[in-house]
Amino acid sequence: MDVALARSWIAAIAAAVAEQADYLTQLDSAIGDADHGVNLNRGFTAVVTALDTADPRTVAEVLVKTGTTLVSKVGGAAGPLYGTAFRAIGKALPADSSTVDAAELGVALRAGLAAVQKLGAAVPGDKTIVDAYGPAVAAFEEAADDGLPAAARAAAEAAAEGMRATTELHARKGRASYLGPRSVGHQDPGATSTWLIFQALADVAA
Ligand code: ADP
Ligand code: MG
Repeated sequence: MDVALARSWIAAIAAAVAEQADYLTQLDSAIGDADHGVNLNRGFTAVVTALDTADPRTVAEVLVKTGTTLVSKVGGAAGPLYGTAFRAIGKALPADSSTVDAAELGVALRAGLAAVQKLGAAVPGDKTIVDAYGPAVAAFEEAADDGLPAAARAAAEAAAEGMRATTELHARKGRASYLGPRSVGHQDPGATSTWLIFQALADVAA
């Protein structure tokens, strides 16, 4: 991954989030407060503008800038969680990262997951971002030797599976946890946006 590919990834996330904003908000209206798509769309729109202005020179700078912008522009649970994740991903890359390989990106994605779990204290099965992000990172690491396109494809498939599996889970973190057992039967919005993020990576890396 070079700087251009990193920026394509973020642009592809922004496009997917814009396209799926109503769907994400609809999922959040079932078990939350109907703002997930609105929140992320505002955030990633701001990120694209911030990257145009900053003109980052390394992959690490692209991802740290993405995270910092999300933290400052997006309220709710997901903004700080995704913001912290992208910052951690960027900070875990070599500082002189004009290009990074799949193994380096795998290490960084793992650091992003650790940051999400440190901030939000969610474990697998809590019906959150972690339920798509965890399997995605594991699949990415497993396939990293086969190169970025294969690793990203494997990660997107694992994220999709994790996302679908949230439907049957009882939410134990975030707003949906207030519903208790009534959260069962609804797919988690944050796990769904995490799938969009990994699918965007698979699409641009292909
Ligand atoms: P809010 O719940 O504040 O309205 P959003 O609607 O933007 O924020 O995001 C909701 C999503 O955030 C949930 O679907 C869930 O996936 C994720 N989430 C909430 N709390 C946590 C947490 N502690 N750890 C990981 N993800 C979380
Ligand atoms: Mg919400």
